[in-house]
Amino acid sequence: MTMPVEILELNQFNHELFQFLDASPTPFHVVQQQISRLEAYGFERLDESQQWSLQSGKRYYVSRNNSSLIAFIYGTDDIIQTGIRMLGAHTDSPCLKVKPNADIISLSYLKIGVEVYGGALLNPWFDRDLSLAGKIVYQTKKQQVKTLLLDFEQAIACIPSLAIHLDRDDNKNRSINAQTDIPPVMMLIDPQQSTVDFKSILLKQAKKQNPLLDIEQILDYELSFYDTQQASNIGLNNDFIASSRLDNLLSCYTGMQALMRADTKTTSLLVCSDHEEVGSASSSGAQGPFLKSVLERIAGSNEILSRIIDRSMLISADNAHAVHPNFPDKHDANHGPVINNGPVIKVNANQRYASNSETAAVFKVMAQAAEIPVQSFVVRTDMGCGSTIGPIAAAEIGVKTLDIGVPTFAMHSIRELAGSKDSWYLFKVLQKFFSSEYSVNISDQL
Ligand SMILES: [Zn+2]
Repeated sequence: MTMPVEILELNQFNHELFQFLDASPTPFHVVQQQISRLEAYGFERLDESQQWSLQSGKRYYVSRNNSSLIAFIYGTDDIIQTGIRMLGAHTDSPCLKVKPNADIISLSYLKIGVEVYGGALLNPWFDRDLSLAGKIVYQTKKQQVKTLLLDFEQAIACIPSLAIHLDRDDNKNRSINAQTDIPPVMMLIDPQQSTVDFKSILLKQAKKQNPLLDIEQILDYELSFYDTQQASNIGLNNDFIASSRLDNLLSCYTGMQALMRADTKTTSLLVCSDHEEVGSASSSGAQGPFLKSVLERIAGSNEILSRIIDRSMLISADNAHAVHPNFPDKHDANHGPVINNGPVIKVNANQRYASNSETAAVFKVMAQAAEIPVQSFVVRTDMGCGSTIGPIAAAEIGVKTLDIGVPTFAMHSIRELAGSKDSWYLFKVLQKFFSSEYSVNISDQL
C-alpha cells in the first residue's frame, strides 16, 4: 500500500524534528543547531557589535549569549505597509543544572550537586539514563579565554529511586527533597586514593571531543543533565511523539522551518529566547532588550518603528496542556484540547496569555486556508494559569500578539508527549502566517 504524499511529508518532518530534538540538549545546542540549518538556507550572520546594512530580499540571523536567536527575512515590500510577522518561542526547558562546586562524595560514590532549573517535574528524572551537556569556559596555554560546547552523549549518570521496601508509603505520599534526593550518581570511587573530580572529568571530555584543543584549565561552566532516550513515535498507530524538551523546541524547530520556506516579500522574523522557564528577565530573555534592539535596527528610527509595530503581529508558540484522559476534571469542560486536533489558541482574561479576538481571528482565517483544525484553551476559572513569552514581548514591544501551541501531555516532565500530526499542522499554518498572501491587519470598523 502506498502512503499519501501528505503522510510521507509529515513523517519526514517529524523524523527531522527528532534529529533536532536529540541534537539540542541545552539552549546553546539549540542555537547551534538552528544556525547550521539557517546558514544552509542562505541566512547570513549579523554581529550585534557591527554596523548593519540590510538589503531587501535577504535573510539574516543574529544570536545573543549563544542561547537566544533572532532570524529574519528583510522583505522586498515596504515594511511600513506590511509590518513584521513575528514568531516567538523559547530555547530553554526545565532541567537539572550542575552547581559550581559539584563534587559530592557519599560512601564510595561520586555524586554531582545540581540546582533545579525552572518548574521541572522531578519524579520522572529518577531511573533515567542521564547524560550531561552545555558550555564550558576555559583558558588556553597562552592565557586566552574561550568557550566550547560539551556533550557527553552517553549515559554517564542516574538518579536511582529508593526501593519500595525501604519506603512503604512511597506510592501514597512521595515528596522530593531537591537538595538531598536528586544529585545524580556518576561513578564509584575510592575516597582515599581517587584524584578524580568533576572538573577533571570535564577536561578529559573536552580533550576527547577535540584532541587538538589547546586547553590549560576550565574556568567555569553551564552544564545540565538530560535524558539519553531519543525522540520517537509511540502509540499503536504512531499517534504520539515522545521526547524531552518538546516544550518548546517543537515550536523553535517548526517556526524555523516555516521561516526558511517563507517568501521574501514580507518581512518575517523568528525569535527564540532563553530563560523563559525562569521568568525571561535576562540580557538574552524575552523581557530583555534583544528583540527590541533588533527591531530598532531593522526600522532605523523610532518613528518608523512605531509605524511598523502598528501593522505587525507576534505569534507566541508554546505548548498547551492537552486534556488528560485520566484527569479530565483538570480542564474546563468546554476547553480541553485533544492531541492531533490542531494548534491551540490560548486565552486568559488576566493577560497571562496575550491573545485577543483580532489576533485569534487572523489565526483562524490562516488555519482555514491551511486546512487544519484549531482548538481553544482557557484554564479552569478556579485554577491558576501558566504564561509564555507572549504577554512579556507584547508589553515590551507593544505589538498585537497571539498565544498558541500544540497540545501536550506531561509538560515539564523529562519526557513529554505530543501528537504526531500537530507539529505538521503547526508548520502548515505558520507557513500561511509568513506568507505575503495573508494580512495580519483587520480594518477598524468600531
Ligand atoms: Zn514553554
